[in-house]
Amino acid sequence: MDLGLTGKVALVTGGSKGIGEGIVRSLLAEGAKIANVNRSTAEGEALQSEYESLGKECFFIRGDLCATEACRAAVAKTVDRFGRIDIVINNAGVNDGVGLDAGPEAFVGSLERNLIHYYALVHYALDELKKSQGVIINIGSKVSVTGQGGTSGYAAAKGAVNSLTREWALDLAEFGIRVNAVLPAETWTPLYSHIIDTMPDPAAAKREIANLIPLGRRFTTKEELADMVVFLASPRSSHTTGQIIFVDGGYTHFDRKYTNQPMS
Ligand code: NAP
Repeated sequence: MDLGLTGKVALVTGGSKGIGEGIVRSLLAEGAKIANVNRSTAEGEALQSEYESLGKECFFIRGDLCATEACRAAVAKTVDRFGRIDIVINNAGVNDGVGLDAGPEAFVGSLERNLIHYYALVHYALDELKKSQGVIINIGSKVSVTGQGGTSGYAAAKGAVNSLTREWALDLAEFGIRVNAVLPAETWTPLYSHIIDTMPDPAAAKREIANLIPLGRRFTTKEELADMVVFLASPRSSHTTGQIIFVDGGYTHFDRKYTNQPMS
C-alpha cells in the first residue's frame, strides 16, 4: 500500500530512542523527511549519518524540550532545513514518578517534561501545519485512563494529552488538520529496560508483565506502535481525527480475568 508519505516533512520529538526511534525509522522507510529533537547528541547524530549514507534526511536537532525556547527553535530549524512541516509527532516524555508526596514544584517539573512541550511545539508549528493541512500525533499512555499510583505528574500530563487531542482536533478541523493520539501500555524500549533492570530479578519481572498482555503474552514492539503512527500520519487515514488509539495487545481494556492469568 502506498501511504503517500514520500517527501512529507515530520518533526518528531524524542526520535533517537525507543518508540520515537521506531516512528522515525518507519516514516523514513515510507519516504518522509525527519527532523528529530532530543537532549542527548550521540544517538541522534548516528541516526542522521546512517540515513545520510542512504540518501535520506534524518536531521538531528539538539534541545531540551522543557525549555519553551527549544520548541520554538526546533520548529524554526525544521522550516529552515525543509521549508515546510506536514507532520508533528509529540513523543518525548518520561514516567518520572512524581507522586503526591513530591510537592507542587516537582509536579510542575513533571508537567514540563511531559506536557507543556506538546502544547508549545504545536503552537509554534501551527502556521506551517495550516499551510500543509498537516497532521498532529500525540503519544500518550495507558496511565491516562488506568491510574498507576505514585506518579501524579505523569498521569496528569497524559490525561491532558488525551483531552488536548480532542480539543485540537476540533479547533483545527476547519483547517483540514487532523489530530490523533496513540497510547502504549507496555512497549519494550530503553526506558522500560532501564526500569526493569532496577528490579531484583529483571527477567522474572519482564515475564510477569508480559504475562498480563492478552495478545501474545508479550510486550508491544516499538515497530508496532510506529505502524499505527505512520498510518495516522498518512492520507490513508484522511477522515480519522480526535481519536485515542491504544496499541497495547489488549492490556488496557480486556476484562481483568483475562489479564490477570494466562489464557488456556
Ligand atoms: P525512551 O526510550 O526514554 O525515549 C524517549 C526519547 O525522548 C529519548 O530519545 C529522549 O532523548 C527523548 N526525550 C525525553 N525527554 C526529552 C526532553 N525534555 N527534551 C528532548 N528530548 C527528550 O522512552 P519511550 O519508552 O520510547 O517513550 C516514548 C513515549 O511513549 C513517552 O511519551 C512515554 O511516556 C510514552 N509511553 C511509553 C510506554 C512504554 O511502555 N515504553 C508506555 C506508555 C507511554 P534523550 O535521552 O536525549 O533526552
